Amino acid sequence: MRGLYSSYTRYNAPVFALTFDDGPGPDTEALLDVLRAAGVRATFFLLGRNLEEAPWCGDPARARSLAVRAAREGHVLGNHTWSHFRPDRWRELAADVRRGEAVVRDLRRESGAAEAPVPFRLPYGVRVTDGALDPRLPVIASMGLGHQHWTSDFDDWTLPHGEGPALAARMVAHIEQFAALGLDAVLDLHDSGTGSSFGYSRPATVEGVRLLLEEARRRKWKSYTVP
Ligand SMILES: [Zn+2]
Repeated sequence: MRGLYSSYTRYNAPVFALTFDDGPGPDTEALLDVLRAAGVRATFFLLGRNLEEAPWCGDPARARSLAVRAAREGHVLGNHTWSHFRPDRWRELAADVRRGEAVVRDLRRESGAAEAPVPFRLPYGVRVTDGALDPRLPVIASMGLGHQHWTSDFDDWTLPHGEGPALAARMVAHIEQFAALGLDAVLDLHDSGTGSSFGYSRPATVEGVRLLLEEARRRKWKSYTVP
């Protein structure tokens, strides 16, 4: 009995998963370097447009090689649609999901990754508008897809250079808060964007993740990949 009891009261170290949306982008390479140095794997919800048109660099071959590198280094490649349409364009969603998934499957083949379902994340996540269910949920349900949500996002795409330490502190606090509830944390971050007013560069995210992973190593926290 004593052994059983102690297994219930054992300190469980916090567990977290890193996810990155909207990539690839100009900071994806630095982010992959940070993850490799820490020995941590993540899930990348890629935007087809940032691969096939690559407006952030004008070089689709470079964009593609970043995604292939991510897959070869053990990261999971997921689909974040091709175009990142706003939720009100839900009638166009199914075709855009299929188009994005085809890009991801092609990248997986090139990188030699095992055939497996492609995880999916909705642009802007699940929304409630005027109290109504997000009309995109039945669309993806009809396609046999689930939505990979998160336990917290951090508006990291809005953060200027230099905000990495503050971002890291917020991520650490969130992981601790969820561990206290007995839950793993799924962090939603962004290694690129859609070219809106916040551009494509995400230096605060790279620095924040680097600092978070230093802290996680010190505290012996464990990471995993979703799904
Ligand atoms: Zn997004």
